[in-house]
Amino acid sequence: MVIARPIQGKHRTIKTRINLVLFALFAIVPYVRVGGHPLLLLDIPARKFHIFGLTIWPQELYFLHLLLLLAGLLLFFFTSLLGRIWCGYGCPQTIFTDFYDAVGKLVVGSSFGKTALSSAQKVRLYAAWLVVAFLFSFQFLAFFVPYEVIWSDLQHGEFFPYLTTSSAVFRFVPAPWIMFLIFSTGFALFNVGYFRENVCKLVCPYGRFQTALLDSHSPIVHYDVHRGEPRREKGQKSGVGDCVDCNMCKLVCPTGIDIRDGLQIGCIQCGLCVDACTSVLSKFHKPTLIDYRTIAQSEDPAAPRKYVRPRTLVYGSLIAVFLAAFVYLLVVRIPIYAVTLRDKAISVHLADRYQNGYEIHVGNMSYEPVRVSIRVTDERFRILAPATEYKVEPAGFEKIRFVVEHPEPGENKFTKEIQFELRDMDHADRKLKMNSIFSFRG
Ligand code: SF4
Ligand code: SF4
Repeated sequence: MVIARPIQGKHRTIKTRINLVLFALFAIVPYVRVGGHPLLLLDIPARKFHIFGLTIWPQELYFLHLLLLLAGLLLFFFTSLLGRIWCGYGCPQTIFTDFYDAVGKLVVGSSFGKTALSSAQKVRLYAAWLVVAFLFSFQFLAFFVPYEVIWSDLQHGEFFPYLTTSSAVFRFVPAPWIMFLIFSTGFALFNVGYFRENVCKLVCPYGRFQTALLDSHSPIVHYDVHRGEPRREKGQKSGVGDCVDCNMCKLVCPTGIDIRDGLQIGCIQCGLCVDACTSVLSKFHKPTLIDYRTIAQSEDPAAPRKYVRPRTLVYGSLIAVFLAAFVYLLVVRIPIYAVTLRDKAISVHLADRYQNGYEIHVGNMSYEPVRVSIRVTDERFRILAPATEYKVEPAGFEKIRFVVEHPEPGENKFTKEIQFELRDMDHADRKLKMNSIFSFRG
């Protein structure tokens, strides 16, 4: 397990500022309600996703697909333009590791990161990490389960929702959010206390494909081997490179790699080794050997930085297309959905006409009540219904049952297509059309 040595410098300052902003968002966002609705909540049990004012219902999962696609494309775009900045500055693994290390320093002081921790110090350290892991998991949970639900379960002691079932196996199964909390706390502790850098080096798929997104004009953290080598050994003054072999670049590295061995998948491009080398070589009045450079600049320092390249143009264009599609779908969105079902039990032949029964399921995907009416587009059909308008409550659902009548078709027909039109009575432009079959079999 790598525990990096702390270092001060430009990149450390930038990282700390970004960490503070992202932590503040992590702490506050799940509790923000706008007009009574969550600002950000991925409510998986209810299959409803609240994303900055937009509520995505199960019938509209294409919005979520588009958002995920856009997030992926933005990652591609910024990686090719700015390198692995997500890994070094935005990834929760990187940010949480910094936080756990700060807690470690607070609990065991200057012994933190040293192998010779006493047993008492180890117990204190892991106990503190367990508490932090639990608190973070609780916070993380609030992005998936409304905090009001968790709070109410806690207040009423409702930890075993299946107690009333007859099954002896399921009776003592805790609520799903409690299981999530236990699993997440355990995983976080295992991660911070044992696995750490291996997430970036061995597990994270992003790390692997982000590397594949780099080209010779994407910035990477690069060691200037021409200036640095051969390394200076103790007492040597001339005939050597600028690297004093202090190993500071390796000691401050959160993944424990030695950037002097060349670009590696474990390099999350956090820039902390740049700070280390800048600090060490400033004592010798020399510039850093390690810095952000493009591969082209590492071969020719005068090479210009190219931002407009085929791959940035392709990613940028795809982002523009999918963003336009998202905005278009948002503008034409109708917050009502409807499904027609033919009631096969009601198919009647009277003296001069036929009757069929239907059931229309109408859902309201808004937080306002809606009034709807139903008509058949072909005027030879007549709806026999107890009401001409129906009210659907906010976020509600109604089953509307009625009978449709058609005179004798006058020819030997067994079925006929029928089209229903559902209208929002308060918004003339909101109409849904649904097709079904009318049977003359009686
Ligand atoms: S090599 Fe440098 S930039 Fe890469 S992860 Fe280590 S400290 Fe960060
Ligand atoms: S910090 Fe700089 S001088 Fe020290 S070992 Fe690393 S590259 Fe060499």
